Amino acid sequence: MIEIKDVHKRFDQIEVLNGVNFSVAEGEVVCLIGPSGSGKSTILRCINGLETYEGGEINVLGQRVNSKDKSINDLRRQVGMVFQRFNLFPHRRVLENVMEGAVHVNGESPDTARKRAIELLGLVGLADKLSAWPAQLSGGQQQRVAIARTLALNPKAILFDEPTSALDPELVGDVLQVMRTLADEGMTMIVVTHEMQFAREVADRVCFLYGGRIIEQGPSGEVLGNPQEPRTQEFLKRVL
Ligand code: ADP
Ligand code: MG
Repeated sequence: MIEIKDVHKRFDQIEVLNGVNFSVAEGEVVCLIGPSGSGKSTILRCINGLETYEGGEINVLGQRVNSKDKSINDLRRQVGMVFQRFNLFPHRRVLENVMEGAVHVNGESPDTARKRAIELLGLVGLADKLSAWPAQLSGGQQQRVAIARTLALNPKAILFDEPTSALDPELVGDVLQVMRTLADEGMTMIVVTHEMQFAREVADRVCFLYGGRIIEQGPSGEVLGNPQEPRTQEFLKRVL
């Protein structure tokens, strides 16, 4: 479903992606781990066409990703993205935040979008917050609204960029639980995270990114339980 081949990307003169290779099959959950600055966010942004790249190729659903192409908006609709900062509309209630994209981006009728939004807010455990304002919710609840908002666009895959990093520790579990449910339901996901327990239990595969290159990848149990590369071992020693 997602194929990344020898992708190179520079910011100014600095090469931040140095030939990244990996792929994600339909229904697969891949966790991307690695130190700060290794290029994790950049690769997600390239996959979603938010960033250009100079070398190699990225294919999503059989289509070449090129951020200058007109079809890029179709691609962004098919591949949802959840960020560390959730950026809900502060002056719209929770339900409206979730409906908004379905109506204005996907062109659904307000009735259809509302029904689906209510269903999705139930799925993320917020059935009782439909008419709350974002500011009345905890960070973890806001992130779950953001996930529901992404799901409302009916994506074929979702990219998560450190979705729990901005949350107080006691709020992390509920968000991870929602992501676990999505994984169980067969959603294709790439998750950048420092939550190693989650990676171990939920990911089919783990990729370790270092200096703009994936230097180790494999089944989560192997990469996290028995890393072969010294730099992976070093990193895991620090985060586990
Ligand atoms: P990670 O998400 O793994 O922490 P990033 O993908 O955010 O890493 O960044 C990789 C490298 O690219 C870092 O050195 C970062 O400073 C640099 N970088 C990221 N975005 C930009 C940008 N818009 N302009 C210049 N440099 C950037
Ligand atoms: Mg990042």
